[in-house]
This record gives sequence, C-alpha cells and structure tokens, in this order.
Amino acid sequence: MDLGRFSAILVVGAPGSGKGTQARFLCEALRIPHVATGDLLREHRRRGTALGIAARASMDNGDLVPDELVIQTVVERLYRPDAANGVVLDGFPRTLEQARLLDRQLEACGGGVRSVLYLAVPETSLIERLTGRRVCIGCQGTFHVMIHALPPDGTCPRCGDQLVQRPDDREAIIRHRVAVYLDQTRPVLEHYAERGLVHHIDGARGVDEIKDDILNRLTGHVATLV
Ligand code: AMP
Repeated sequence: MDLGRFSAILVVGAPGSGKGTQARFLCEALRIPHVATGDLLREHRRRGTALGIAARASMDNGDLVPDELVIQTVVERLYRPDAANGVVLDGFPRTLEQARLLDRQLEACGGGVRSVLYLAVPETSLIERLTGRRVCIGCQGTFHVMIHALPPDGTCPRCGDQLVQRPDDREAIIRHRVAVYLDQTRPVLEHYAERGLVHHIDGARGVDEIKDDILNRLTGHVATLV
C-alpha cells in the first residue's frame, strides 16, 4: 500500500491505549516508517538538543509540549528519504492547531491525511495499563507488571539491563495526561470525522484481534499483509 510522499495514516488514542503497539504493526505490514512524536522528543532529550531541553519540563509534568516545537520535529522527519511512501503518525496531531498545521503542510506538498485510526479504551483500563508499565533502559522493551513475569530485582527479562518506570507513568501524572488528552485531542477527532476519515477501533480487545481489524479496514487483505 503506497500512500505517497507527504501522506499519513494517524493512530490516535489516549496514553495507554496501545496506539504505539498497533502503529508499529501497521508500519511493518505497510513497510512505511513509524513516526511517534513522543519518541522523537525523547530522542532530542537524549541528544541534549535545544529542542529537547525546551520540551523537558512539559513532558515531565505530563503537559503537552508547545505546538511549534512538536511540529518542527515532525516536519524534519517527513523530509527524510524513508518517508517517500508515506508514514504512520503516532501521537500527533494532539491538538486542533497541530491538525490544521499538519493538513496545511501535507496538502501544500501534494499529500494529506489518508485515514485516522482511533483506539477507544475506557479510562479505568488506561490508568491500570500505564501504572504497571516498565521500560528497559537498555533494549527499550516495554513490559507490564500484571502481564509479564518480571525478575524481582527489577532487571529486564530480555536483555538483563535495568527496568524503570517512565517519570510520566506515575499515577498522578497519568491521570493528568489522560485528562489533557481528553480535553485536547477530542477536537482533533471531530476535525477528521467531518472529513469522514475516522475509524473507531475497540481498543479493549486482544492485540492480535485489533491488529487484524485495523489491517482489514485499511486494505481488506489481512492475510496477504501479515
Ligand atoms: P507519548 O510517548 O506519546 O505518551 O508522549 C510523551 C510526552 O511527549 C507527552 O506527554 C507530551 O509531553 C509530549 N508529546 C508527544 N507528542 C506530542 C504532541 N503531538 N504534542 C505535544 N506534546 C507531545
């Protein structure tokens, strides 16, 4: 499935909705890059860029990073050669302003948003999923204390490095992130729903069931893609 340059499929969902997992599956199936603004911003922080430093306080407090900083990271990414057949955007746009800027940017280059996948998960499940999430500082693997048998010494079952809780995965911050999401991102969905682009996906099901549902809706050819 070739979307074309400056074209995107958006994966939208609250923190903990599984949007990252599903976005990665989709990218493998469609062979196009996964562009997650959270990852791009964390990468800037690791590299200590001016953008990373500017984004740090908002991220640690569970607030949204200012639109102009996020848009700068996304646009830079869309110009890289591997984005020639389109991208899956994960975690962007999160505000109506970002959505409008993205549309303008893509459409000016002959592309556009092609589909929006909205992963709907009840708020109580989101909180449960995120408070139990642990991330490996070595291999970046993501685990859940309720799902995976994790070593009692807090090491990664895959590579043996240290597992940590992301600073923004603490309960008070999570509640704030979910509230921020509900407040800011709903208008984004409404914006794309007006154009008939939104697929409502039940995100409370098993990972594989959701994956098949998404591929089927986008291509109608699950079996040939997976
Ligand atoms: P995520 O990994 O998608 O949960 O994002 C982690 C944090 O990065 C968020 O809580 C925000 O502080 C910031 N962030 C990621 N994407 C965006 C965006 N589109 N707009 C503003 N802030 C963002």
